[in-house]
Amino acid sequence: MLGPAGLSAYLEENSAGALRIDGEVLGWRSAGRGWVDMEASPEEIEAVAREVFADLDVAAFDADENGRVDQLFVLHSARSPMDRPSPSDLLLDGRADLTIVSQVSGFGTVSEALPVGMIVHELGHWSLNQPDMYGNYTQGRYGSGIWTVMGLGGWGPHNQVPADEIFARPTHFHASAKEAAGWMEMARVTDDGAHQLAPIELGGGALRLLGPGVDLVLEVRGPTGFSAELPGHGLLIWREYWPDAMIGRRRIELVQADGRDDLANGTPMGERPLPPNDENFGDAGDPFPGAEGVRRYEDAEVGVILEDIHHVGEDVAFTVRWLDG
Ligand SMILES: [Zn+2]
Repeated sequence: MLGPAGLSAYLEENSAGALRIDGEVLGWRSAGRGWVDMEASPEEIEAVAREVFADLDVAAFDADENGRVDQLFVLHSARSPMDRPSPSDLLLDGRADLTIVSQVSGFGTVSEALPVGMIVHELGHWSLNQPDMYGNYTQGRYGSGIWTVMGLGGWGPHNQVPADEIFARPTHFHASAKEAAGWMEMARVTDDGAHQLAPIELGGGALRLLGPGVDLVLEVRGPTGFSAELPGHGLLIWREYWPDAMIGRRRIELVQADGRDDLANGTPMGERPLPPNDENFGDAGDPFPGAEGVRRYEDAEVGVILEDIHHVGEDVAFTVRWLDG
């Protein structure tokens, strides 16, 4: 299990070294209540946060110089009575641009581990404008599963994560979230040609193939770091629909190389399918070439064929061939 360095290690690996957490440790503040059976109320959190602000150098945390702290994460040690403690946003009398409140002592009633995965999943929503990608999971449809932290990857890298380790080992963000964060540049591919991508955990980058209305985004997951425990490794192909004009967010789907669409054929449980369980949250056949050895992918809507997809060590090489318009 990851130690206290989990959050900084996660962000450093996801950003290929571009983002390092640098901090200042302030003294403890107490709301004077125990954590065992008490959900921290907004009033209690406000009271503690107000104390923190009393001696906080706001300018040191105000990159856009608007007189407010840019992002404030309040991590409290109260126990939530629910399995899904919603991070609430408090305005704190307008002294922070964005506040996310979450508990550190486990995920609702379930675990006692530090919920790093929850913090970075919420960061994905609020700071990177990324959608939830876990599908209609109470009905056995798991969206992009564990292949992104915006999906079920927030819980961990597979379906057998022990209950007390939920949220402790989140998987990577999908590539376009990293591009949105400014953590990496994504090259555009418009011509036929051969490519080779290194694992994204090692700074391998990603490619975008522009289509009419939907793009392909390609990245490689290797067996290292926060991806070590994924069920498989190789080339991930994401289909990204152009942003909805109203919402401004893309709809993003993972192409499952094995073509079985296991991610959309789980068991309707009527409740959150928290691990450990026997549901398919993603498997070794999802990446290319993957467990099924799938070397070719044709996407008629984008108008492109990927051929000769194969490993070169932990890298993946392939050829792009555009279909004639
Ligand atoms: Zn979410």
